[in-house]
Amino acid sequence: MPTTKKVHIITFGCQMNEADSEGIAAAFRRRGYSLTDDLKKADAVVVNTCTVRQRAEDKAISQIGRLRVWKEKHADGKIFVVGCAAQKLGGKNLKGRFPFVDEVVGAKAIESFEDALVAQLGPTPESETAHQNLFRSPQTAYVTIMRGCSLKCSYCIVPAVRGPAVFLSPAAVLKDAADKIAAGAKEIVLLGQTVNSYKHGQTTFAELLKEVLALPGLRRLRFMSPHPLYFDEGFTRLLAAEPRLARYIHLPVQSGSDRILGLMRRGYTRRAYLDLIGRLRAAAPGLAVSTDFIVGYPGETEQDFEDTLALVREGRFSLAYCFKYSPRSDKPEMAATIGEAEMEARLEKLLAAVKENSRLVLNERIGKIEEVLFETQTYGRASGNFAVRVKAGGAPGSTAKVLVTGAAKNTLNGKLI
Ligand code: SF4
Repeated sequence: MPTTKKVHIITFGCQMNEADSEGIAAAFRRRGYSLTDDLKKADAVVVNTCTVRQRAEDKAISQIGRLRVWKEKHADGKIFVVGCAAQKLGGKNLKGRFPFVDEVVGAKAIESFEDALVAQLGPTPESETAHQNLFRSPQTAYVTIMRGCSLKCSYCIVPAVRGPAVFLSPAAVLKDAADKIAAGAKEIVLLGQTVNSYKHGQTTFAELLKEVLALPGLRRLRFMSPHPLYFDEGFTRLLAAEPRLARYIHLPVQSGSDRILGLMRRGYTRRAYLDLIGRLRAAAPGLAVSTDFIVGYPGETEQDFEDTLALVREGRFSLAYCFKYSPRSDKPEMAATIGEAEMEARLEKLLAAVKENSRLVLNERIGKIEEVLFETQTYGRASGNFAVRVKAGGAPGSTAKVLVTGAAKNTLNGKLI
């Protein structure tokens, strides 16, 4: 008998957490639950936590605290706390602080979320269907290919909470991707903290990409987030040869100063980063590159910051996510060395430079031809990840070549050719 039960999922943090939440949503759907945005109507709540910055962890903790009232009104309701903060703080600690939480599943054990569900809700009903629409957007599906990270960037807690890199087998990745294509996805996004470090037996990242591209029905393949240290020639050759590999790479650089990059233990210099994106753009002309920056890292001087500002223009980034350095309570020796007002001022300056640069990059697309994957009749995404509006576009899920005729407010306008 169909159940009307509902689950409310709150996700903090990165794409890895988004992907884990999709998996969790799928596990609930197999039990007949539907998703709800309305906490009041929920029979179960999942808080997928993040701890990349102290503020993210604090936000997740106060969110859990607010669920006390919900639990008082929903005595049979179940609360699951999962993800990175759950991993870092531990089940005993969290349940001690929040006794109304039913299950805590850390990021390292996320594959065992099903066990937590069984413990709270009993075994999965037989009626589970294999291909359900698991995704928020029917066009795009996330496929996790690795967990954890084996690098040791000085500001990052991921290796501590998620452990060293562990790669899923090519067979598991292909099955996941094929299932998602069969369920309606046209675009797959392969996910991992250093996604291009993938290596399983003899299978390299480039070979895995080739195998995924060979799946029937796939229109476009993306991945996130790669690390500058891991692109090899096999990848560059594939990028040059395979137009379905998106003409867009999000490649975090974090700083434009070699001194700060060294302190961050990123493993590359500004020159090496610029040379790399130059090689990638030579292989795929028109390749759009976006990035991440951290401002106010301990010891960042005015000159270091100026080097970062200059990199915005030199890198011709289509987009950049800018973050203020966030000191962690567990690393008192890494406190910020500039005050909040200076940190804020640098962030503002960087955001303004990024905005201006993004406008220039968008305008450079006018007169060019973009391949667009349509989400609606009139709206889609270019391979370079630009939003595109087309008056008479294509059927949702189809791709078509579009001549860009204008650009406004982060969006390209165009017409079919
Ligand atoms: S590459 Fe660095 S920033 Fe990224 S997850 Fe690994 S340690 Fe963290």
